[in-house]
Amino acid sequence: MQPISVAHGDGIGPEIMEATLQILKAAGAKVKWEPIEMGEKEYLAGNSSGIGKEAWESIRRNKVVLKAPMTTPQGGGYKSLNVTLRKSLGLFANVRPCKSFHPFVPTKHPAMDLVVIRENEEDLYAGIEHQQTDEVVQCLKLITRPGCERIVRYAFEYARLYQRKKISCFTKDNIMKLTDGLFHRVFKEIAAEYPDIQAENWIIDIGAARLSDTPEIFDVLVMPNLYGDVVSDITAQLSGSVGLAGSANIGEKCALFEAIHGSAPPLAGKDLANPSGLLRAAVMMLNHIGQSEVAETITNAWSCTLEEGIHTEDIYQAGLSKEKVGTRDFGKAVVERLGKKPATLAEVSYAKEARIHIAPYERKTPGEKTLHGVDLFIDWKGTNPDDLAEKIKDLHASFALKMITNRGVKVWPEGFEETFCTDHWRCRFERTSPNTKTTIGIAELLIHAIQKDIEVIKTENLYAFDGQKGYSLGQGQ
Ligand code: NAD
Repeated sequence: MQPISVAHGDGIGPEIMEATLQILKAAGAKVKWEPIEMGEKEYLAGNSSGIGKEAWESIRRNKVVLKAPMTTPQGGGYKSLNVTLRKSLGLFANVRPCKSFHPFVPTKHPAMDLVVIRENEEDLYAGIEHQQTDEVVQCLKLITRPGCERIVRYAFEYARLYQRKKISCFTKDNIMKLTDGLFHRVFKEIAAEYPDIQAENWIIDIGAARLSDTPEIFDVLVMPNLYGDVVSDITAQLSGSVGLAGSANIGEKCALFEAIHGSAPPLAGKDLANPSGLLRAAVMMLNHIGQSEVAETITNAWSCTLEEGIHTEDIYQAGLSKEKVGTRDFGKAVVERLGKKPATLAEVSYAKEARIHIAPYERKTPGEKTLHGVDLFIDWKGTNPDDLAEKIKDLHASFALKMITNRGVKVWPEGFEETFCTDHWRCRFERTSPNTKTTIGIAELLIHAIQKDIEVIKTENLYAFDGQKGYSLGQGQ
């Protein structure tokens, strides 16, 4: 018996969890459920993360969680429980299969069958935000080589395991050349190790446009956190209903399985919700813990239920559906069909060993790192960049002021008066000679700025790695 921590959730959570557990039990899943408390009750009891100490202990002991959706209470001060779980447990891969169940669930995309693999811990979700001036706030986008290698390799291993043919990487590296550029570069490096799988890269905007128009041309998709968050909701909706998709959050030590939708408070307690998303997440969980035969039995019975037109309200269509049922009766209908095989929808056969192991990251030999200068970020309420340049250009004899940008656009030297400027200025100083003592020089530069009443709100060192500049240049003319 595999022990599993089970969170019954809020809103429709307890109803869809009950239906799901009933099906797993009837199908013979060898699991021992350990209920844990998290979500709205915990938040309202004063726990800002929504997860209590006992719940953490259970999760860390069992390493596998089945979780129903949770309600985040209105108002500030509540941390996202999902982000906390993903980051604390190192759940780096978010896997969302989205498939059409045509003709039984109406969709404009009958041939769609894809899997979104989203990096789950990094990117703007590192949550490092600062207000720096009256007019400007910033959020750091952190992309790491270990993070990219792990998620991209996971995607290729997933494709092999599930006999998928192609992986599409979505990035915006034409603009974010360093961050998204690293993700894309790692994708190309790792793709070369998997010649049996076709690999392609799309700029996220056109990729997402094609995806929402012709999802059937995609197979497996891999992308950084924020893009994956948005794209995977779109693909779930394209398949017919958000109530149908499950997701897996996979880490090296732990895994968490849940429906992709939320707690749908207006449906709570009415026996109306579709339990399929959570059930399909539970099937992913069964595959993960090596009970693939039970997983197959459940998926085939669920497909029979759909085929026979036994539908919950969200997918019910007069003329196509046969019977409109509630959450409970949908669960019973699946139980009654355990052992049956679908006639039209594909019968599934899962790999016997579905756990993907990624070799631990091996740190590369560090490159030659040279400090070229510094960007001083300055809070300055003036409007003419020439005036600012005049104030700061002689701050240090060993550093030359090379440019000033505002919101990334070069405004000095030779800026355009048309460019809109805020009170947040990036002033780039580069060493005047390779012999400059750069580290101490930067500290002196900062002191000189403070002595002249210049408000430096942040500094960013300018490094080159093996001779390649590790910093962006100013945009514009
Ligand atoms: P939601 O997913 O709960 O609802 C969106 C729409 O989909 C609603 O019309 C709802 O009725 C419908 N829907 C969702 N699940 C359904 C199901 N199983 N069967 C039939 N219809 C279904 O999104 P929301 O309204 O934006 O969020 C409600 C609450 O859920 C919020 O507190 C939010 O923070 C939380 N939430 C939690 C999770 C999670 O725990 N993983 C995810 C998303 C949202």
